[in-house]
Amino acid sequence: MKENGILERYGLMRVINVSGTMTGLGASRVVPEAIEAGAEIQSSFVRIDELQAKASTVIAHMTGAEAGFVTACSAAGICLSISGCMTGTNLNRIELLPDTYDLPNEVVVQAGHLINYGAPIHQAIRLTGARIVPVGTPALANFYNLEDSIGEQTAAALFVVSHHVVQEGQIALSEFITICRDRGVPVVVDMASEYDLRSPIELGADLVVYSSHKFLGGPTGGIVAGRKDLVRAAYLQNKGIGRPMKIGKEGIIGTVAALEAWARRDHQAVYECEQQYLNHWWKELGGVPGLRLEKHHDWTDNPIDRLKVFVDPEEAGLYAWELADRLSAGEPSIQVRDDLIEHGYFFLDPCNLVSGEETVVGQRIADEVQLARAKGDGKRYSLSDRKRRSVASLLKWPDVS
Ligand SMILES: *Cc1c(COP(=O)(O)O)cnc(C)c1O
Repeated sequence: MKENGILERYGLMRVINVSGTMTGLGASRVVPEAIEAGAEIQSSFVRIDELQAKASTVIAHMTGAEAGFVTACSAAGICLSISGCMTGTNLNRIELLPDTYDLPNEVVVQAGHLINYGAPIHQAIRLTGARIVPVGTPALANFYNLEDSIGEQTAAALFVVSHHVVQEGQIALSEFITICRDRGVPVVVDMASEYDLRSPIELGADLVVYSSHKFLGGPTGGIVAGRKDLVRAAYLQNKGIGRPMKIGKEGIIGTVAALEAWARRDHQAVYECEQQYLNHWWKELGGVPGLRLEKHHDWTDNPIDRLKVFVDPEEAGLYAWELADRLSAGEPSIQVRDDLIEHGYFFLDPCNLVSGEETVVGQRIADEVQLARAKGDGKRYSLSDRKRRSVASLLKWPDVS
C-alpha cells in the first residue's frame, strides 16, 4: 500500500475507508489527473470567468446540459441554484439576498426529501432567503400535494436523488418535472452522490447538482449543470451569497480533469475489482460465528455493491456498533458504513479501497469478533449511549482522541 508520508509527518491516524465517500474522512481518493491539474495551475494566474467557461463546456459535454460551472460543493451548488432561480441575473437582487423582498421565494420539496447529508438540506435552501414548502408527508407525497403547493410565490422545486430520501410513497422525478414544467417552475435536482450524469437533464430538469469529490474522484467541489440562463444566474451569485462558498482555480480545473478522467475510465474494470474485494470478504468472513453476510446492491441503483454484515450479538458477543467502534479505534482506523447500524448491521463499501486494504479489513473484523467472544467484553453499551458519547466527543474539539 503506497502512502505518501504526509499523515506520518503530521502525526495523523491512517484510515482505511470502507464506508464510502464521506466528508468527515476526506471524501474520496482524488484521481491522479485531478491532482496533477490542480497542482499545475496553482502557480499561475488565470481569468476565473474564462476557466469557469471552459468548465462549462466540459460539464455540458458530460451531462448533456447547455452549460455548467463548478462550486465549492454540492450544498453550495444547491444554495446557488435556488438563489439563481429567485434573482435571475439581476445583480442588485443578487447583492440583496438573503433579503428577497417582492421576489417569489418559495421552494417546494417533497417532505421525504428533506434530508441531512451531514447538515440539513433545509438550511442550504433557507440561507438564500427562500422559504421551504414541504410537499406531502415524509412517507407519502401525491401529485395533488405538489400541484397545490405551487403558486404565485414559487421560485423553484427541489428534487433529491439519494439513499437518504424516503424510498417509498414519493412522486417520481419524471412526473415531478412534468407537473413543475406545466406551471413554469424550474426543477433543481440534487444528484450529489449519483453516477448517472445524464438522466435528469434528459428528463427535462432545469438544474442538476453533483459532487466533484464523491464518485468522480475530484477535489472538493460541486457541479451545477443545466439550462444556460439559470446556470448563468446561479454563477452570478458569486457576486453575492456565493462568496463565502468560493471555489479556487485548483478546484475548478481539478473538477474538469476528474470529469475528463471519468469519461475515459474503464468502469467495468473498476466494478470487477470491487467485486473481488467483496468476494475476498465473503470468503474471509463467511465462517465467522455471529456474522451473517449479504451482498447489497446500491439503493439508488448506482453500479456499486456493498457487503452487508449482520452481527448477532448473542453469538458474536458484541453489538454491531461495538464492532464498528473497535474497528475504528484500532490502527489503522477502519471506518465501516454505519448509518443503518440500528438494524444490527453495517456495510463494507469497496469504492475507495486500494489493493491490499481488503485483507487488512477482513482480518481485523475476524480478529475483533474472535477476541470479543474469548474475552466476553462486549454488549456493554447501547446505541443511544454510543450517540451520546459521539456527540460528547464532538463537543470537545479541538481535543480529538
Ligand atoms: C453528499 C450529498 C450532499 C452534499 O454534498 P457536498 O458536495 O459534500 O456538499 C448533498 N446531497 C446529497 C444527496 C448528498 O449525498
